Amino acid sequence: MNKFGHELMSSSYPKLLAPLELGFIDLPNRIVMGSMHTGLEEFGDWNRVAEFYGERARGGVGLIVTGGIAPNSEGAVFPHAAGLCTQEDIDNHRFVTDRVHDCGGRIAMQILHAGRYAYGPNCVAPSPIKSPISPFQPRELDEPGIEKQISDIAKTASNAREAGYDGVEVMGSEGYFLNQFLVERTNKRSDRWGGSYANRMRLPVEVMKRSRKAVGKDFLIIFRLSMLDLVPDGSSWDEVIELAKAVEAAGADIINTGIGWHEATIPTIATRVPRRAFSWVTKKLIGKVGIPVMASNRINDPETAEEILREGCADLVSMARPFLADADFVNKAKQGRAREITPCIACNQACLDHTFSNKVSTCMVNPRACHETELQYLQASRAKSIAVVGAGPAGISAAVVAAERGHSVVLFEKSDRIGGQLKMAAQIPGKEEFRGLLDWYEVEIDRTGVDLRLSVMPSAEDLSAFDEIIVATGVSPRVPELAGLELPSVLTYAQILSEGAQAGGRVAIIGAGGIGFDVAEFLAEDDGGVSEDVAAWLAEWGISDPETHRGGVVPDGPSPRPPARAITMLQRKPGKFGRSLGKTTGWIHRASLKRKNVRMVGGVTYRSIGQEGVRVFVNGETNREMLIEADNVVICAGQVPERSLADQLAALGRNHHVIGGAEKAEELDAKSAVDQGTRLAARL
Ligand code: NAP
Ligand code: SF4
Repeated sequence: MNKFGHELMSSSYPKLLAPLELGFIDLPNRIVMGSMHTGLEEFGDWNRVAEFYGERARGGVGLIVTGGIAPNSEGAVFPHAAGLCTQEDIDNHRFVTDRVHDCGGRIAMQILHAGRYAYGPNCVAPSPIKSPISPFQPRELDEPGIEKQISDIAKTASNAREAGYDGVEVMGSEGYFLNQFLVERTNKRSDRWGGSYANRMRLPVEVMKRSRKAVGKDFLIIFRLSMLDLVPDGSSWDEVIELAKAVEAAGADIINTGIGWHEATIPTIATRVPRRAFSWVTKKLIGKVGIPVMASNRINDPETAEEILREGCADLVSMARPFLADADFVNKAKQGRAREITPCIACNQACLDHTFSNKVSTCMVNPRACHETELQYLQASRAKSIAVVGAGPAGISAAVVAAERGHSVVLFEKSDRIGGQLKMAAQIPGKEEFRGLLDWYEVEIDRTGVDLRLSVMPSAEDLSAFDEIIVATGVSPRVPELAGLELPSVLTYAQILSEGAQAGGRVAIIGAGGIGFDVAEFLAEDDGGVSEDVAAWLAEWGISDPETHRGGVVPDGPSPRPPARAITMLQRKPGKFGRSLGKTTGWIHRASLKRKNVRMVGGVTYRSIGQEGVRVFVNGETNREMLIEADNVVICAGQVPERSLADQLAALGRNHHVIGGAEKAEELDAKSAVDQGTRLAARL
């Protein structure tokens, strides 16, 4: 046993599970749950907040960092974002810190001043320059205004101590307030807070000094430092080192890595970013400061995290979304059960996309995340026999949760593999993480004792002996009414993605929803893309060593590899393509296809498909016909529910539950399918 009461068994992750002793606080391992805005603190149910963090503390994480807490109203990310100013705030936060400590954990609070990113007319900044991602022009701070911001941040740090936190993280990256002072892009001042780098870094260093003074010596302060701004005129590498040394001297205990401003046009955490794509940047700081340095961004499994530490890229590893996917991440890694860790596939669908839609975050693969007090998988009072038909995301989720609760579950799947639509997603360049999700579902089916019967499609009569029947038979591709569909050059998306059908050099895609975009990404690459090759991916997006170019941005821009074929996407709607894609990821898909010269023609009326391609009318003008030349036409026109089993059961008067695409195909995605299957199984 070590002093944290953990067995020091021979582990696959010796670096990751090694304690870190900081003197006044010791961390039992090197895994930090990074800051995430979940919306829970604003929701006002502090027991729910406490349980969210408490469950992660019980899961063994070394240190939790909360979502960003505003130091004042002008710095709040949005109006009424959670703060820590009043005694009532302190009491609410104390409720959370007590729970985390009772669960054996440690928790630091992130102090987030948004500067010009604050979504409100009172936002403040070094200079009155509007951000490209905000409608609000910030007010330039005068000297007393700057002093107010510093003292509000320092006061928030001391309030955090009073509220029982073990430390704070000062947010100095991602293009927020402190970061805005550091670079000339946003700081045009000519007083002592602008001009030379010594002046531009004065504010973050002063914030560190004053925060340290406010909290005393024995209280953790992490400084999140932007090591790669990914915007033009960002920090140079020499400046990054100078700042790191200065914040260390000013009292920081740990430096965390920040990658990319929010306004950067380069993805930094989405699924198409390769795993540990930025750990090389953190490594550059090792040896330059005497305090521990933490790596972050696209680290989602213990092997990758261990590798980062083993290669000397960092002293600690921060993972945020993986702790939404699995609160027990660390315990499972420790107990040799890493295969059971629910993988975060970096889809953003239920976390960041929710945040940007003013909804409480959760997780696509773990609907319990942020719903711990309400969604529980309690042991069933009576074990039932349950048939689940269809092993897509809805069916698997229902089967696994029902079996976990003690029911006897048979899962039927008509094909020879589980996964449903996820199998197709796993083929798309940049969506390789879906393969890990399919592997995890296999592990869970096995672990929970679900009786999986592949290549079997039962009839309604076959199911007569079961207590409960869950129909999760999914969807079939919608076949539009269009002359020429019978031609051999016309393919469905399933033929392309599942059956290995080969497309020619010119392709027209009918339909530009999520699957149309996926098919375009798939056809634009013939070798699987660059999402598993960090160097090629960095070149594709125009990212350089910050030692070579300020902010790590290549001045000549990205160097995309040429597309594998000429692709045209078509939709009947006028206007922007990809409106139905994820809020935080749609822009990446659009940017990626633009680079591959994919042509997008909207507002079309389909006329016919022929040997030469697709004939359409454009913009409703029936006198303006256009031929989209193509060797192949791929139909991605949405889906219809596959309900034949449900209809048979209804005709026999058998009670049954219909979930996922079989219930509603339109606008159905994996997130709703998993949520629906899970919630049904939790109450059966
Ligand atoms: P979808 O999002 O509903 O898109 C269907 C597309 O087909 C639309 O572009 C629609 O545009 C067109 N269409 C519909 N009826 C048509 C008809 N009769 N004739 C010709 N075109 C027609 O469906 P999906 O692309 O199959 O995606 C299914 C679900 O999976 C969606 O919920 C989607 O969000 C999700 N998904 C998401 C992603 C992602 O976010 N990257 C990836 C894959 C799947 P017009 O009506 O304008 O022509
Ligand atoms: Fe990860 Fe997607 Fe879950 Fe967010 S919703 S935590 S990105 S798996």
